[in-house]
Amino acid sequence: MATSSSILLLAALLALVSWQAIASDPGPLQDFCVADMHSPVRVNGFVCKNPMEVNADDFFKAANLDKPRVTNKVGSNVTLINVMQIAGLNTLGISIARIDYAPLGQNPPHTHPRATEILTVLEGTLYVGFVTSNQPAPNRNKFFSKVLNKGDVFVFPVGLIHFQFNPNPHQPAVAIAALAARTQGLSQLPMQCLGQTHQYQMMFLPRHFRWKRIQLTISRLSSGRTTTTKTGIC
Ligand code: MN
Repeated sequence: MATSSSILLLAALLALVSWQAIASDPGPLQDFCVADMHSPVRVNGFVCKNPMEVNADDFFKAANLDKPRVTNKVGSNVTLINVMQIAGLNTLGISIARIDYAPLGQNPPHTHPRATEILTVLEGTLYVGFVTSNQPAPNRNKFFSKVLNKGDVFVFPVGLIHFQFNPNPHQPAVAIAALAARTQGLSQLPMQCLGQTHQYQMMFLPRHFRWKRIQLTISRLSSGRTTTTKTGIC
């Protein structure tokens, strides 16, 4: 009887310890693990380059993040610096991006499956937001949004759908985003909706992003000029 109690206690202790062990990602086991992009070995991430061959250039990129970028058809450009650009980021759980927004440009709704994002506005104004997951009511798919000005900071929790929109029809905007992953992952909502008709957007938007509120914000920030036919966040 006493033996079975001891075994039970031991099992309980082991369960407790194993729960603690998987509660978070393990920390690095060495100073760095610069990604060896040429290795044929496939693991979860990249294998380490021989540390004797590592130098400062493995942690560096002349990325010109101070320079404006040409924006795409939805009016944004994300210049991402992750482990694919700086091999030294491998295993370190961090990356960065410069995001340019044309006047009325948007970084359409998307998620990062592996990274929380923290965004700092360097120039201009941004209307940003995210939507919660299917939590119990009243927080089910709750929409959080904010108008950010130069110097403001906003956080997008890992895995949640989020977006940024430049409501100013005359001025571009610039932001720097830090991401808590060497490769944050990107899952975009169906890009088709961005290329669809205005009628499609008007059908889709009110349900998912409270389009009326966005319209009001745009109108207020655009000196009375309405922009509903030129903008779309799906
Ligand atoms: Mn993002």
